[in-house]
Amino acid sequence: MDKLLPKLQKLTQNLWWTWRPEVRTIFRDLDLDLYHRTHQNPMSVLKQIAPEQLEKRAADVDIPARVDRALRQLHEYLTPVTTWGLTHAGAMRSRPIAYFCMEFGIHESLPIYSGGLGILAGDHLKAASDLGVPLVGVGLLYHEGYTSQVLNTEFWQQDVVEPFDVADLPLVPALDRFGEPVHVSVELPGRQVHAAVLEVQVGRIRLILLDTRVKQNDPKDVALAARLYGGDQRMRIEQELLLGVGGARALRALDITASVFHLNEGHSAFALLERARYRIQHDGLEPHIALQEVAAASVFTTHTPVDAGHDRFPADLAAEHLRPLADGLKLALDEVMGLGRVNPHDHGSPFLPTVLALKLSRRANGVSALHGVVSRKMWNHLYPGRREEEVPIGHVTNGVHLPTWLATEMHHLYESHLGVDYQSSLTRPATWARIASVSSSEIWETKQVLKARTIRFIRERCAATRARLGLPEIEPAPLDPDALTIGFARRFVPYKRPDLLFSDLDRLDRLVNHPDRPVNLIFSGRAHPADNTGKGLIQKVARILEDPRFRHRILFIENYNIHVGRMLYQGIDAWLNNPQRPLEACGTSGMKVVLNGGLHISIRDGWWAESYDGENGFAIGSGETHANQAVQDERDGDELFRLLEEQVVPLYYENRNAAGVPRCWVDRQKQSIRTLAWRFNADRMVQDYVEHLYLPAAVGSSCQMPPP
Ligand SMILES: *Cc1c(COP(=O)(O)O)cnc(C)c1O
Repeated sequence: MDKLLPKLQKLTQNLWWTWRPEVRTIFRDLDLDLYHRTHQNPMSVLKQIAPEQLEKRAADVDIPARVDRALRQLHEYLTPVTTWGLTHAGAMRSRPIAYFCMEFGIHESLPIYSGGLGILAGDHLKAASDLGVPLVGVGLLYHEGYTSQVLNTEFWQQDVVEPFDVADLPLVPALDRFGEPVHVSVELPGRQVHAAVLEVQVGRIRLILLDTRVKQNDPKDVALAARLYGGDQRMRIEQELLLGVGGARALRALDITASVFHLNEGHSAFALLERARYRIQHDGLEPHIALQEVAAASVFTTHTPVDAGHDRFPADLAAEHLRPLADGLKLALDEVMGLGRVNPHDHGSPFLPTVLALKLSRRANGVSALHGVVSRKMWNHLYPGRREEEVPIGHVTNGVHLPTWLATEMHHLYESHLGVDYQSSLTRPATWARIASVSSSEIWETKQVLKARTIRFIRERCAATRARLGLPEIEPAPLDPDALTIGFARRFVPYKRPDLLFSDLDRLDRLVNHPDRPVNLIFSGRAHPADNTGKGLIQKVARILEDPRFRHRILFIENYNIHVGRMLYQGIDAWLNNPQRPLEACGTSGMKVVLNGGLHISIRDGWWAESYDGENGFAIGSGETHANQAVQDERDGDELFRLLEEQVVPLYYENRNAAGVPRCWVDRQKQSIRTLAWRFNADRMVQDYVEHLYLPAAVGSSCQMPPP
């Protein structure tokens, strides 16, 4: 027993456990209540658990044996004989990829993410780890964590700051070659801002996080990285300078010579200026040579075709902040400003980090085939004289990290039919072709188990919300477990149209309350704390909880995060995605659903535009767009209702065999898994980045042009 606690602690020190269900359940089994109260955080569980409870549970549920096994597996994971990365990207072993992002969504207990972008970055690190691709993550530590969503009696989203203790995370000071903790500083107007450099181990990958809680900082500067996407434009540009400039300096202080800088979204674009500045100051390069060299070794991924999604800093604010970098770059301030301007000569026009990133990265990409097209059109004016198809922005379609999102029961099904080692060949179509041989009843029964668990979870969450809002308890419990259950969860913004089905409440009533073919609809999602339009959409959807017609069938779950998401993706039958085309750059939640045997119902936008084949899910509409958005919304709403009424619902309820298995539905599940799983996973995504972007950029960076 004395040795058990240190062993358990050791397991918590590498975030590898976040994608190993058999390790997560060790901590859950120690104390279920405590586990959920701490956002499934193993370190907090160990800190707070009473010694008697630990001792008792250890004996009851075989903890010592499970811990030994997990530690052995972790050790094996960290010391592989060979990996895909060593075979395909060995050249980057001594010069890894530096992957910059404003947010990283690795687990709900590490609250440094807000939504899709961060979760994608987390999945990227995990897949790079599994594949053995040499990569280092660079981000900020938001020490106040984030807010949770709580509805008030008006169904208006309240943003409640969650108490959160950085000490409950496996963060350690990053050390330099002398074993000393590393600090960096960045020049901001009138002062230096300092940051400690911390790191957390994500499997084989290091994630470096800058922490402004240092005593040299003024309290105002400590607060600079208190919260993700908090504050005004000034705070935002200062956070971005801290991430980009501070991040690049942290890598140098740690003797990490990156081959390539990969900017995941434009927030970290200042890293490129810092990289060039160092070459000029330290190695004596001419400014224009240094900038060319940096561009050759940079990859930039843009994530949104929504104009408001791109930062736009007023000229004065940007100039005030860029002066120190301009001096270091030996360039006139105006030249540096021009790098972030659509038209460099348009003095007074705003500074866009996205433009800076595009001008200083020879390789850029969107996140789906359609988003590539849209991005080339969107940024065509930056490349005068080039036609749209010649704009140098390609695409790598996003993918999701299978072990993070897959239900254990589905994992066992895949293990027994695709091969015990299927996770080492996720990207091969042949691996997934074997799904054809699984019996319909096995897939169906597995899904029923997952669905029952998810419905229990939803009922509990919803009952708690109702109790708090003073709404009466629902009798009998809401959600018929045998009914077709459709989920919709995402950030609430107008273009995602969370209220599309609410355009005709009578038709919705007939759909969900059909006497023989009922439908459950589950909604969840959050709005940015400063976004009242989004909060209005939340209110409109959550209000449904009050309507007696719908309260057994349509539920809203508060506080969408990784945990709630995982429960929904694993247990629902189908997933709804109805954005205004082409504004959903990719979308990844539907991919998580597909891996778990759910079907995707979507507008032909983002990843669905390149993957729907007529039989592997459902498409709303045919993909054309009307110039008038109101007309388009009305059309899409009607198409969505028709699709549900005429195709989705019948497929689910008809053609049942003697055991009640809907044969055609299950065939579609198989078609969905067979045609989609091999492509839309994060292993394929990271492999694409390595082969099409990282390797060419890394080679470019090692044949540097000599100074003139
Ligand atoms: C996957 C995921 C997202 C992103 O999904 P989209 O389809 O891009 O909206 C957002 N939030 C959570 C919690 C997720 O798990």
